[in-house]
Amino acid sequence: MAKISINLATGSLQKEDIIVGIDLGTTNSLVAFINPEKHPQVINDAGKGVLVPSIINLNKNGDAIVGTDAKEHLIEDPEHTIFSVKRLLGRSYKDIEHYQNFFSYKIVDDDNDTLVKVKVEDKFYSPIELSAMILKELKARAEHALKTPVNRAVITVPAYFNDSQRQATRDAGKLAGLDVLRIVNEPTAASLAYGIGLNPEEEKTIAVYDLGGGTFDISILRIQNGIFEVLATNGDTFLGGDDFDRAIIEFWISRSGLTNDELKQYKEIRQALRLKAEAAKKHLSSHSTFEGEVQGIDCSIDKSTFEGLIQPKVNHTIASCKNALADAGLTVTDIDSIVMVGGSTRTPLVKNSVANFFGKEVNDTLNPDEVVALGAAIQADILAGNRKDILLLDVTPLSLGVETMGGLMDVIIPRNSKVPTKAGRQYTTAIDGQVNMKISVFQGERDLIKDNRKLGEFELKGIPAMPAGFPKVDINFLLNADGILTVQAIELRSGVKQEVEIKPSYGLTDAEVEKMLLDSVSHAKEDVAQRMIIEARTEGEQMLYTVDRFIKNNGQLLSHDERAKTLELVEELKNSLPTGTKDEILAKIDELNEYTRPFAERVMDIAIATAMKGKAI
Ligand code: AMP
Repeated sequence: MAKISINLATGSLQKEDIIVGIDLGTTNSLVAFINPEKHPQVINDAGKGVLVPSIINLNKNGDAIVGTDAKEHLIEDPEHTIFSVKRLLGRSYKDIEHYQNFFSYKIVDDDNDTLVKVKVEDKFYSPIELSAMILKELKARAEHALKTPVNRAVITVPAYFNDSQRQATRDAGKLAGLDVLRIVNEPTAASLAYGIGLNPEEEKTIAVYDLGGGTFDISILRIQNGIFEVLATNGDTFLGGDDFDRAIIEFWISRSGLTNDELKQYKEIRQALRLKAEAAKKHLSSHSTFEGEVQGIDCSIDKSTFEGLIQPKVNHTIASCKNALADAGLTVTDIDSIVMVGGSTRTPLVKNSVANFFGKEVNDTLNPDEVVALGAAIQADILAGNRKDILLLDVTPLSLGVETMGGLMDVIIPRNSKVPTKAGRQYTTAIDGQVNMKISVFQGERDLIKDNRKLGEFELKGIPAMPAGFPKVDINFLLNADGILTVQAIELRSGVKQEVEIKPSYGLTDAEVEKMLLDSVSHAKEDVAQRMIIEARTEGEQMLYTVDRFIKNNGQLLSHDERAKTLELVEELKNSLPTGTKDEILAKIDELNEYTRPFAERVMDIAIATAMKGKAI
């Protein structure tokens, strides 16, 4: 039963549990909700502003300041001030080592494969804990502004975030005391904010262009039957409005004649220049000239000079759009709508270049800093059951499966399946009396597990001893709406059961996912050939095992010649296994099978006769 409470501020009745939408950004984060007029609205807590800088300052006692107040420490206290934590979320040191110099704080590099940690003074923090601090601040602001507890949220992530990064985001939410109902792709949320995808009948292909302060993403989405499928993503994780600011600073400095050495002595000038450059850039979004000065340095600049400076960067983003379209197998004419996200899309050159490239007007009427959070709030509203007609789904980018005999990949959930989804298959044992079964879970498109990525493994223990082939082991995969996988194995005859949530130790980058997909195409032919030979070998080994067992248990039923001939055929099959072609192996299996089949019938006859004998009539 839904609880009803009274909002003491307004005197109105409200459902106690508001679900908020959170845009947990690299530079800024914000939170939105659906207001009583049923419109998505960003939360502005008592004039503190809407955007919460995703920055944390940790003092000696480990106390945290989050947001604007923390940002002020960025320059004078870099070792204690954590920014861009989203770049570390769900990543291993190996993932980030090539850009570790970007961070001014200490990143622990003692173990390559596990998730990174940040060291401040003598304390260690995981990016999950740090993100939780930002989420806690957002939760507190929402509670303060709405005067109601906020316990449930939808959080957005980039479309290219892998399992590990999504799981880490979810864990951060949990740690912040939030029940994370759904992890939603940022471009999906941005589209929703523009009402795109809300009509289940609508079929559309859209491009979401997201240029923020430090990152650039382009995503191509296909919307069909209320399902958002990510067709392609591209971008540059180190390109954004900050680069525009730097370009302006460099222009002013080179014009001033000051050397870099001279400037190095004036740390505070650099900071003042940075602020001035950002102000100039913003001003030029709606004016043609900017006038200013910092410590005697002329800081004037006009729009066309500015556009000349940033043109190469803008061109770079357009090249990414081209690549994304090519990856999706589409051309510009296939794109029905373009959605603009991120503060830097306010720069007219950016907006015009994107519109020119796609040959269409762009969607830019909403505040580009807010669209993702607004869309997340709409998704939250849908999940709250307030828009029953809509069901939002995503799809899984890579196939999920288990290892079967011979190191083959057996796909259980194929790629591009809608999530949430559930699928299962039945397996059995290969050896008599086998009591344990190892279940190894893989992700990828290749036929051999060695070419795919291992997500985890576990053992189903305590299967009662039975002949090979008797146990019935159901393996079920449950992929939830966030793309998190739970694997369940159950032996049906005995009811022995085991269940695990698969949490990859570290994830794949979008480039790696792409490579895995491309590899599967380019290796398709040899993979099929390999799969066939492995299947033939596995079948051969099973046959040898069965015949061997037969001779051990029922050898007395064979004549001397029959036994000799069987052993000869066994030898031939054995010899063909390592080097024979698929057809040669299958021929040997057939021969042995044909020759020994009558023996098996003999055993059956005897068994029946024995059974009859025992029965009194
Ligand atoms: P985001 O990461 O989406 O919050 O984007 C922040 C970036 O947008 C920063 O680089 C800002 O300087 C930039 N930005 C904000 N307002 C404007 C504006 N009016 N014109 C150009 N860039 C802007």
